Order: sequence, then structure tokens, then C-alpha cells
Amino acid sequence: MTADRVLLLIIDGVSDRPCPDLQNLTPLQAAKTPVLDRIAADGICGIMDTIAPGIRPGSDTSHLSLLGYPPESCYTGRGPLEAVGTGILMEPGMIGFRCNYATLDNAGKVIDRRAGRIHDTADLTRAVMEEVDLSPFGIEVLFRSGTGHRAALAFRGRGLGACVSSNDPKKDGVSRPPFRPLRDSPADTKTADALDSFVRQVDAILAEHPLNRDRNKRGLAPANTILIRGAGEMGNFPPFSERYGLSGSVIAAATLINGIGTAVGLRRVPVAGATGSTDTNLSGKVDATLTELETQDFVLINIKGADEAGHDGNAAEKRDFIERIDAAIEPFLSVEGLLLVVCADHSTPCSIRDHSADPVPLVIRGDGVRTDAVRSYDEIACAQGGLNRIPGSALMPIICDLINRTTKYGA
Ligand code: ZN
Ligand code: ZN
Repeated sequence: MTADRVLLLIIDGVSDRPCPDLQNLTPLQAAKTPVLDRIAADGICGIMDTIAPGIRPGSDTSHLSLLGYPPESCYTGRGPLEAVGTGILMEPGMIGFRCNYATLDNAGKVIDRRAGRIHDTADLTRAVMEEVDLSPFGIEVLFRSGTGHRAALAFRGRGLGACVSSNDPKKDGVSRPPFRPLRDSPADTKTADALDSFVRQVDAILAEHPLNRDRNKRGLAPANTILIRGAGEMGNFPPFSERYGLSGSVIAAATLINGIGTAVGLRRVPVAGATGSTDTNLSGKVDATLTELETQDFVLINIKGADEAGHDGNAAEKRDFIERIDAAIEPFLSVEGLLLVVCADHSTPCSIRDHSADPVPLVIRGDGVRTDAVRSYDEIACAQGGLNRIPGSALMPIICDLINRTTKYGA
């Protein structure tokens, strides 16, 4: 028997270094994880440099690498992928940006980079989309709300460059720097000029918007400007279905991961209550995954909360969230014909509160897959496994081979 469907479970940032708060165990070692340990015992284990040894990955570059899209050639910045993740249809050559709604005081200084953590920006975004006009630049504007105070912007037009600076001062109490071309090129200059015009129009629209007048009255920070960063030109992503002959879905809370999945042609499956934090709707994501596996060849599910606990330096919270994930994923054990792949996209050690290049533990379990002597899923045990140490770029070829979807190299 051979598995015919693939579930790639990426537990974001789950791997770690020894934590003094946990008697120098990693959170994965300290957590009670009977389900993950069962998967490790049944399957073949190893450790993986998701990009390459010593390269400290972002979640975006590592997910691209694991899906078989080399970030060295595919990654053009976070902006275009965030834009895809908010639902903007990005075509190759379009320029994408990440945005924040923010608050300016009367003197034009940024006093809150998150506009009082405003939630519902749909009305503001609609007003911007309806009223902003960059036709003098030959540019079509696409602008969408993201989660909370976040949003994304895209320009479609000829002769646009992506090497432009940001107007985000990165701290409160100072004025916004102007957009500048970062190279001496007409294309970058055109984009910078168009961004200037965009923000000037946006400031006028938002100042008069009823939602902001209401926020002013209620003593809330008005969302009266937009800060823009992360400019990038949308790259060309050959569809996943053509690369591997597999249909697929993506289930994630983070806009960026949804953007990557959508960019490579995976179907995005929204889940109510998926927050990207440790309070996320785990069972909702697991149920959605089980449903997708009924019709799709490949499902990518990303669970984010462990990464957040790592960034907070909270080893106990990370351990506890790992135990909740473990309990939630038990239904995956009984899916027939499933190749179950569990890994992280990078380590997020509590000791450094950021991503590190430490390799991540990997396990693959399914019908016909060899096993090894590893009996628990953690950074140290998996290093003894039969997959040894592999680069992230090897993951999809190994997966495709284990479901008999590769063609022979040679005679
Ligand atoms: Zn990540
Ligand atoms: Zn992170």
C-alpha cells in the first residue's frame, strides 16, 4: 500500500534551544505529546535546514523553500505576498506593499502606528478604493483590509519599480519620511511619486470620514493615515498543481502564509476563529483539514501560536500550547491513505525571542514508509532518525516519491 494524499503540518517556530525555565529541555521535549510521539514511532524522522545550514529563515522564505520554490529566485519581498493574502489578484510585474492604518496628530506627527489597534477598517478601505485616483500615473490601485490595523496595497501599471523607501517612521512621535527611489531609475521614481500622491489623497479622505469623526468623539485614535512598507514586484510562481500534479489547499491564519499558498495556486480555506495566536481555533483548523483531505491531494496547515510564544520568550506557554496542538491533531492518525508530514518552518528559541537557523525536527508517517528507532518528536530525538539531516528543498521530492508521483531519473 502507498499513501495517496499528503498532509503537511507546519508547526510554526515550534523548535527551540534548551530552556533554563524547563530544566534545559526544549519546549517540545518538555511537553507531553503522545500523538506526535506516536507519529515519530510509526514514521521516519530527521532534522531539516528549511533553507540551508546557518540561514535564519523568515516564515515566508521558509514556506516557499518547503513547497519547492527557491526563495533566492522566487522571493521579492513581503509586500506582494501580503497583498495576495488579503485577496488581491497579483499578476507578475505588479507592485505590492504592506500597510498599517495609523494616527497622525495635527502637526503631522505619527502618534500611533496602529491607530488604536483599530479592528474594522472595511468602511475606510472602501472609501480609499472608491476615491483615490492614480490615473494620471497610468496606475490602477488595489487596496484591501487585512487583520486588525493591517492592509495591503498594489499598483498595476507600466514602468513601475519596487526599489522605494517606506513612509513608516517605525516609532511614534515623529513625522513620516517621504517616499524615495532607492536607485536612480525612472521606474522607482514613478512609484515613489505615485505613493506620495496616494498618501496625500488618503489623508484627505480619511480626515473627513464619518468613522474617524466618530472615533474622535469617543476618544479613540482615528485611523487618519496609512503607513506603507515592504515594496516588492510580484514574481512568477509556476502553479503547484503543474509542478507536482497534485491539487491542494492551504489552511493558515497568517495573511502572509495564505498569500504564499495562493501565489502557488493552493486553495485558501478560511477558518472562523483562526487567530495565529495561542488562543486560535485549533479544532476548527483540524476539522477544515479533514474536510479538505476528502477532495484534495495535498493540504498545508500552518499553526502559528508556538512561534508567537517563542517571540515572547515564554517557554512554559510554548510547552503548554504544544500539548494542546498534540491533543487536537489526534484525528489525523486515522485518515486512510495519508502521508502525514510534521515539521516546523524554522526554530524560534525563547532565549533569543526570534528565529534561528537551528534545524527543525521532521517526521513522515504513512503506508509503506520506512521507520527508524526514533520514538519521540523533538529536536534531539529526531536527529537520530533515518532521514538524517536534509535541506528544505528536498522535502517535496521526498514526499512525491513516497506517494509514487515521481518519474524515474535515467533508464
Ligand atoms: Zn514561521
Ligand atoms: Zn516568527
